[in-house]
Amino acid sequence: MPQKPDDGTVESPPRDRTIRRCLIAGNWKMNGLCAQSRSLAEALADGSEDLPPFIDLTICPPFTQIAAVGDILAGSRIRLGAQDCHVASAGAFTGDISAAMLADLNVRYVIVGHSERRLHHFETDELVNAKARAAIEADLTPIVCIGETSEERDAGIAHERLSAQIATSLPANFRGVVAYEPIWAIGTGRTASIQEIEETTAHIRAAVAAHLETDDKSVPILYGGSVTARDAASILSINSVGGVLVGGASLAADSFLGIALAAQEALS
Ligand code: PEP
Repeated sequence: MPQKPDDGTVESPPRDRTIRRCLIAGNWKMNGLCAQSRSLAEALADGSEDLPPFIDLTICPPFTQIAAVGDILAGSRIRLGAQDCHVASAGAFTGDISAAMLADLNVRYVIVGHSERRLHHFETDELVNAKARAAIEADLTPIVCIGETSEERDAGIAHERLSAQIATSLPANFRGVVAYEPIWAIGTGRTASIQEIEETTAHIRAAVAAHLETDDKSVPILYGGSVTARDAASILSINSVGGVLVGGASLAADSFLGIALAAQEALS
């Protein structure tokens, strides 16, 4: 019960000081030649040193830069990530990279089912499920992307579409992260509104928990779609958001670290 001080006013109950963890993941997509990737990784490693431990950071360079970036990040606050993996651990799959190969380079996170892969490589929810299983098998943390089109949102079927993606893309033994990335917000400069993110991530959290038969906090839900340092604090203040997946703003140290600083401000 709140205490009644001598002046007759009622003190507010003590603020819950439990600090939520958050994951800030950078997706470099098909960007980064050698010199540029090295200098960005160096700037991020240096600039992230003093961030608080409740902020987890990962960057996902293109495959060609993973080894070099990994050497620079070794011993830093930033974990290495990748943008995709194949479903098999090895074999006759020309041009593909397996989760075991990524783990061999100390990669910890792998994005699967990004909407650009679903669109340009015709990836289905079933394939995404198999990739998530391959990642878990190799001891990587999959970041499974889901998201609706603008037509689906306008037609009022966004939640239904997301539930279907969750039911088919997440394997029963799922251990990882889900990224909600409305397709209309990726690379467009148009971030979803706080209310849209709040309602949709709450729906995703409940749908993931029901599908996996777990409690609704066991799978962090990230938001992705034109996130910048300007809007990161308000997005990360939403209870059901456990972090952000960042594309364009992850390509410069200032903007990516600005998002991390916004997270520090929003969550501490
Ligand atoms: C992404 O590619 O996952 C993404 C969210 O990109 P952007 O931040 O550029 O919208």
